Amino acid sequence: MEKILVVDDSRLQAAQLKVILDEDYDITIAQTAEDGLSFASAGGYSLILLDVVMPGMDGFTLLKKLQEMLITQSVPVILITSLSDIENEHRGLMLGAVDYITKPFHPLIVKARVNTHIKLYQYRKQIERQSMTDQLTGLANRRQYDRHSVIKWKEASRLQVFFTICMFDIDHFKAYNDTYGHPAGDKVIASVAKTLSTHLQRSTDFVARYGGEEFVAFLMGDSAKKAFEYLIKIRQAVEDLHIPHDPDTAEWVTISIGGVTVLPQKDSSYDAYLKIADTMLYDAKRFGRNRVVWANEKMEQWSE
Ligand code: GH3
Ligand code: MG
Ligand code: MG
Repeated sequence: MEKILVVDDSRLQAAQLKVILDEDYDITIAQTAEDGLSFASAGGYSLILLDVVMPGMDGFTLLKKLQEMLITQSVPVILITSLSDIENEHRGLMLGAVDYITKPFHPLIVKARVNTHIKLYQYRKQIERQSMTDQLTGLANRRQYDRHSVIKWKEASRLQVFFTICMFDIDHFKAYNDTYGHPAGDKVIASVAKTLSTHLQRSTDFVARYGGEEFVAFLMGDSAKKAFEYLIKIRQAVEDLHIPHDPDTAEWVTISIGGVTVLPQKDSSYDAYLKIADTMLYDAKRFGRNRVVWANEKMEQWSE
C-alpha cells in the first residue's frame, strides 16, 4: 500500500482526509509543519497532502524545504487550503506543488486527484528504476555505476575506510559466442551476474554491468587481503557453475578479476584507481586467465 502523509493542523480536516483515503492508502497524519518535515525526511511517502495555513511554519515554507531535500524533492505535494484566490494557487504551483485543492473539498474529487498523482509517481519511479538497471542481468547499469562511484568514493574518503574496486571479465567469451551463439552467450552473462550479486550482498557492496561481458564492483571496509581472498572465492564460484566452454578453448566458463584496495585521500582520484584495477585485470588475462590479480594498499601486486 502506498504511503501518504497528511500535514494539517486541523484534527477534523486531517481525520476527514484519512476517512476518504484510508481504504486505498496507508495514511500518516502530522499536525504541524515541523512534524511533517521530520516524517517526510524519513522517506517512503508517495504523496504529501499539505495544508497551507498553519500556526508556526506554514505550508508554503514546508513545501520549499521539501523541494530542497534530496529524499523528498521528487515526492508530489498537493496543497489543500481555503485560500481560494489565484495568487496563492499560483504561488503554491510555482513552488513545486503538483496540484491544489480548495476547501471545502468533495471526497470524490480528492480521491480522484490523489489516485492520479500516485499513478504518475509510480510510473516515474518505474522509469527511473528501469533507466538504472541492466535489462539482461537485472544488475545496476553503467549509468547507475557512474553516479554511485562518485558518491561511494567520497563516502569512503570522508569515513576513512578501505575502498575496493574490482573489474571482472569473462574469459574467451568471443569463442563461446562463436560456438554456441549470442543468445546462449546472453544466458552465460546472466548466470555470471547472478553469481556476482549473490556474493556481493552487503549493504555496502555494489556490483554493476560495466558493458558487454565486463562487470565492476565496489567493497567498503575490507583490507586488501580480505578483499583479495573473497574475490578468489567469487572467481571459483563462477568456475564451479561448470558451464561447458567451447571445447577447443577451455573446459568451463571462467572469469578474470583485477582489483585494487585503497584508503582514499581527499585529493586521490577515483579514475586513477579504476585504471589500476583495469591494469590488474589486464595482467590476470596475461598471466593465464581464470585468476585474481590485486594491487594492495602499498600498490604491491598479488596474483593467484
Ligand atoms: P578475453 O579472455 O581476453 O576477455 O577474451 P574475450 O573473447 O572474452 O574478449 P573480447 O573482448 O575479444 O570479446 C568479448 C566478446 O563478448 C565479444 C562479444 O561478442 C561478446 N559480448 C559482448 N557483449 C555481449 C552480450 O551482451 N551478449 C553476448 N552474447 N555477447 C557479448
Ligand atoms: Mg572484455
Ligand atoms: Mg572477455
